Amino acid sequence: MSVPGGKKDLWLGLDLGASKILAVLVEEDLSLAGSLRTETKREEGPERVLDRALGLCRRLEEEGGRAKGVGVGFAGLVDPGTGAVRSSIMLPGWEGFPLARKLEEALGIPARADNDATAAGLGEFRALGSPPGLNMVLLTVGTGIGGALVLGGRLYRGKGGLAGELGNTTIEWKGRTCWCGNRGCLNTLASGSALSALARRLAGERPGSLLGQKEEPPSLPEVAEAARRGDEAARLAILEGARALGAGVANFINIFDPHLVVLTGGVTGLGETFLEEVRREAGKRAFAEAFEGTKIELSRLGDMTGAVGAACLAMEAARRGGSRP
Ligand SMILES: [Zn+2]
Repeated sequence: MSVPGGKKDLWLGLDLGASKILAVLVEEDLSLAGSLRTETKREEGPERVLDRALGLCRRLEEEGGRAKGVGVGFAGLVDPGTGAVRSSIMLPGWEGFPLARKLEEALGIPARADNDATAAGLGEFRALGSPPGLNMVLLTVGTGIGGALVLGGRLYRGKGGLAGELGNTTIEWKGRTCWCGNRGCLNTLASGSALSALARRLAGERPGSLLGQKEEPPSLPEVAEAARRGDEAARLAILEGARALGAGVANFINIFDPHLVVLTGGVTGLGETFLEEVRREAGKRAFAEAFEGTKIELSRLGDMTGAVGAACLAMEAARRGGSRP
């Protein structure tokens, strides 16, 4: 708790993803005291990646003040009890890595670790003012799709902390093979990487496309920019990705009858056209009675959702007196 008129309590949050590490220093009310980001360089392995994350934390503390705790959202399955990584498709080589313990030892403050999308779900919930009884589905749509569930005003983790793997739910049961080994997951159709691959294919069929004829799929910002300039391949890829995501969202609406579906991650840069198409497709597929009154929105915290949510993990742990979730 902050002393009125005194120095505010500060919390560190880390979003450790496949391509970038984002670190934030926030106050209890989630106002930002600082933020830094760097590349993950995942090929260098856990110890080097962790060193880079620690570097960001130390710089934030030097500039903003000492934190009371640190939380990390990790792009993989994490045991929220021990704070150790269970597995990760995005960050290979982290199996069993004691992420929370390493952070605690290096920074000398209590640390908590959880799945990155779960952390984002908590961040969004807190940014909304923790409405009692809220039912919310959050999707982080970046390289892959992660998910978090807030049910009855509480983060729902499932029996082992693995709940909310919404990107690995089947949309096409005989579809393309997903990273997880299953076929036809939502990931294979609606993730940022699926959308980029589709944009490359569509550009290949259109010699004049602004996306060119490169071997590498275009990045999401490149697709967004080409679509803004009227490129047909980019525009079609965005619509197709949005419709696939809308089909997934319709499933989640029928399952959870939520008040709110929140989208965050790289696709949020695709703009209002993307969001409108997600809404339209979800509306066509979900039960009208469930769809009615369900808001589908972009995250209030932009791409900081995961990092701010990670800081919230540390705050919540301190509030519980250090006990694990
Ligand atoms: Zn999958």
